[in-house]
Amino acid sequence: MALYGKLKRDTLRYFNMKKLICFDLDNTLVNSDKAHFYSYMDAVEKYGFKRISYWKFLRLMGMPKEQVVREIIGYGKDKKIYDKVNDLQAELVIKNKYGNTTKALFGIKMALRKLSKKYRLAVTSNCSHKTILTLLKNAGIDTKLINIVVGNDDVRLSKPNPAEIRKASKIAHVKADYVIGDSIYDIIAAKRAKVKSIAVLTGHFSRKVLKQKKPDYIIKSVRYLPRLLRKIENES
Ligand SMILES: [Mg+2]
Repeated sequence: MALYGKLKRDTLRYFNMKKLICFDLDNTLVNSDKAHFYSYMDAVEKYGFKRISYWKFLRLMGMPKEQVVREIIGYGKDKKIYDKVNDLQAELVIKNKYGNTTKALFGIKMALRKLSKKYRLAVTSNCSHKTILTLLKNAGIDTKLINIVVGNDDVRLSKPNPAEIRKASKIAHVKADYVIGDSIYDIIAAKRAKVKSIAVLTGHFSRKVLKQKKPDYIIKSVRYLPRLLRKIENES
């Protein structure tokens, strides 16, 4: 394993390639709970379904979108209606009615600036590609720091499926080294993609719940990621 690690490091150095980090978006880099919530509620109401409470909605954050919409309007309906609600929700987020509710998490911008010097940064999220770009912009995160964006509409299956992570690796021509996320679905996807996983506590999942999925590391926030990576890479 150590030999493999050295080989990979040497190869990356030879081709002057940076290692790849895949970040989840919601509650890992930005807080966009309200933008998602209000747009979902507008979308479900438009199709004649009842709104749910904000607290109930927060429990759904991080799940694949197909599941989120089923949890809101109920299971067992025509597949087309789920797709329609999800499409309208994504459209409403992009239209930016609730844009000013999205904020970058504390210390994230500085951390991304630091990390971008040494790593290539990808955002792999269960939001659509355009939604990711909109939310990053609303949060005031410099999208030039993000080299690769993979949304749920860029792949066939979203997290916990590893497709988003694999796609980012494919675009980067190098296997991702780390996956960072606040939800159990991020950890499961990382494990399936055989990438090191780092859980952050900035979302709605407790340390205890995250720990059950056995991430390689747990840190409070992406703010502490540069420090953790320095430590990991000096050890290896
Ligand atoms: Mg998340």
